[in-house]
Amino acid sequence: QADIAMSQAKASGRNGLCFYDPQMNRVAQERGQLEQRLRLALERVTASGVDPEGVSGLNLWYQPQYDLTQDTGSHLPVHAPCSFEALIRWNDPQLGPVSPVVFIPVAEDSGLIVALGQWVLRQTCAQLRRWPGTKIAINVAAAQFDRPEFVDDVRTALQDFGLSGERLELELTERQVISDLDGMVRKMHELRALGVQISLDDFGVGQSALGHLLKLPVSVLKVDRMFVQSLHDVSGAPRVLQAIVALAHSLGIRVVAEGVETCEQLGTVRDLGCDLVQGYLTGRPMNPRDAAVLLARPAPTPSTTQAATLPTP
Ligand code: C2E
Ligand code: MG
Ligand code: MG
Ligand code: MG
Repeated sequence: QADIAMSQAKASGRNGLCFYDPQMNRVAQERGQLEQRLRLALERVTASGVDPEGVSGLNLWYQPQYDLTQDTGSHLPVHAPCSFEALIRWNDPQLGPVSPVVFIPVAEDSGLIVALGQWVLRQTCAQLRRWPGTKIAINVAAAQFDRPEFVDDVRTALQDFGLSGERLELELTERQVISDLDGMVRKMHELRALGVQISLDDFGVGQSALGHLLKLPVSVLKVDRMFVQSLHDVSGAPRVLQAIVALAHSLGIRVVAEGVETCEQLGTVRDLGCDLVQGYLTGRPMNPRDAAVLLARPAPTPSTTQAATLPTP
């Protein structure tokens, strides 16, 4: 990949003017190449916005979310997940697997995020049809959410796949909230009117504005992995989480603990009142076939003796 970029840089250098910083040039070339390959991948997605054959190299993987309030009392969930987060995966025939951390910013800068986001939305709706009774959360980029057509796109997708809005959740980050609060609130209410749930992603890192919670029609708060992982290293962190949970609950907002990797963390977030857990401990992002196996497990049964049966971490 880097070699291709370098040889391209050399070739263009031979044609005359050449005043580039080779390092900068390589980065620019790689971004350009990523953009070009991503555009090609998106062109392979069918007109209906889905890609049943997987020819685009784009895939959605699904990470399970488990309900901690409806728990059988065993330490690790043994029942079916209540929902999933869809996470994009891209395996390009030329570039190999590329992380979303790398290509999402490129998609955002180039405007390809609109087509990419539309693909994620429709691919998720197609999956929801195959999995009755479950819910899926998707990540929505600022540039996608801010488009005037966004609510219509969601409404159309739900209609085309015959789904009720309650099965879809949209994850927005706090970063997005800052810009146009009133406009954002209005749009969120339009989405809520479709039954769609909205969650605030990556909460607890960056500029966490608790005040936003009072204004935004949010159903779910996703406490960031970095915050969860600080619970056992940073004194006071558990008390902060406890306060966040109390505030969220007082507003009727559920709390998801993200990035839970250890039994100790699971015990703590459960004790502090988090409603849902999502992390490598309870399940990594997986392909739809593996996710379907989890869905075939028995549904959770409400436990009235949850507190008594909880193992202490
Ligand atoms: P995110 O929305 O905060 O997603 C959670 C990320 O944390 C995922 O990384 C997931 O694989 C990872 N994760 C989950 N549990 C654990 C854990 O226990 N330990 C650790 N170390 N990591 C865990 P991933 O899939 O690489 O995605 C990274 C980011 O890329 C996402 O962060 C999201 O911001 C963005 N992204 C992914 N898919 C999409 C998409 O379809 N659209 C948009 N706009 N962004 C996406
Ligand atoms: Mg997310
Ligand atoms: Mg997150
Ligand atoms: Mg995150």
